[in-house]
Amino acid sequence: MYGKVKQELQQSLRELREQGLYKKERVLKSPQDGSIEVEQGKKVINFCANNYLGLSNAPELVDAASRTMKDWGYGLSSVRFICGTQEIHRRLEQRVSKFLGTEDTILYAACFDANGGVFEPLVGEGDAIISDALNHASIIDGVRLSKAQRFRYAHSDMGELEEALKKSQHLRRRIICTDGVFSMDGDIARLDQICDLADRYQALVMVDDSHATGYIGPGGRGTPAYWGVEDRVDLITTTFGKALGGASGGCTSGRAEIVEMLRQRSRPYLFSNTLAPAVVGGTLKALEIVESQESLRERLWENIKFFKDKISAVGFDIVPGETAIVPVMLYDEQKAMKMADRLLEEGIYVIGFVYPVVPKGKARIRVQISAAHGTLEMQQAVDAFRKVGLEMGII
Ligand SMILES: *Cc1c(COP(=O)(O)O)cnc(C)c1O
Repeated sequence: MYGKVKQELQQSLRELREQGLYKKERVLKSPQDGSIEVEQGKKVINFCANNYLGLSNAPELVDAASRTMKDWGYGLSSVRFICGTQEIHRRLEQRVSKFLGTEDTILYAACFDANGGVFEPLVGEGDAIISDALNHASIIDGVRLSKAQRFRYAHSDMGELEEALKKSQHLRRRIICTDGVFSMDGDIARLDQICDLADRYQALVMVDDSHATGYIGPGGRGTPAYWGVEDRVDLITTTFGKALGGASGGCTSGRAEIVEMLRQRSRPYLFSNTLAPAVVGGTLKALEIVESQESLRERLWENIKFFKDKISAVGFDIVPGETAIVPVMLYDEQKAMKMADRLLEEGIYVIGFVYPVVPKGKARIRVQISAAHGTLEMQQAVDAFRKVGLEMGII
């Protein structure tokens, strides 16, 4: 039987390669860090990880994770509600709630699962989900699993959001959902206006703060804190796989009844193991560091400012923004890919993003800054951009 499927798959894979959509993975030879080894002996400065606070290989996290594994074992071999909840899982849920200023939190194996399991238990037939067009794939998948009516507004277009709220006024429950920080442009959702509209039209607000938790807003408490609307956002989903140590895991945090209902009905929670003890220990330590070490965020913001100032002065276009994601615009797809390759040869690891990941004619190199980068590394990056930019006639 496989014979025919095999040929079809081979054909599809060939097409992906021909269209330049085939994803190749680079195998790292070292832990994740500000600089990493991509080939034996070849170190490059890494600007494509979500390691915003530089905690991915922090010795304190590695220690905390090892200790927790010694105390609590390697795995749980059970879902939470059978026999897979340890004290540390409740402790992490309480810790996240305290950090985000929410009533309760529920852990998932990944934020992808948090988003996959958040809609179906809360909104169904007769309800509406109103979603930003650029929301993360996991939100889109989660929305698909619910029977609620779907509305989509153009990215951050408050006029279209209001239209959708008007059009859905006859429905029972409505939930507006948005990424807190959008990964391609690095822009922040207008939560102040979204919350105003939600109040006016009686809708719930959900924010996926995966690219923000740990470093955006006062205390790194994310985009609701950035806008001062913590008490007006009903639920937050976020990941432990980015700024908070980058291992894995995610959560939904918010109103007590919402979280309680998710514990009863959310399928990725009910039917999948939660975080391994080591990851819980590491994430608890990450939160402790995030809360006590303002210096990491200061370091990150210094690096961001340094890079933006210098790269603009050198003559590149960047998308203005207030996050650690800095898109350097090349516009031309070929140039973006070529420049990323050349930069890697120069010891700077960045990724070119082209259509269909970003719109046609909006090709770019996405630079993700980290607190792990030293001043010297930041300067090396700017020098390399300048060298390759001149060589390619871009600046
Ligand atoms: C990274 C990301 C996720 C997925 O997080 P995981 O914990 O790795 O599954 C979900 N939503 C957004 C907005 C993200 O950026």
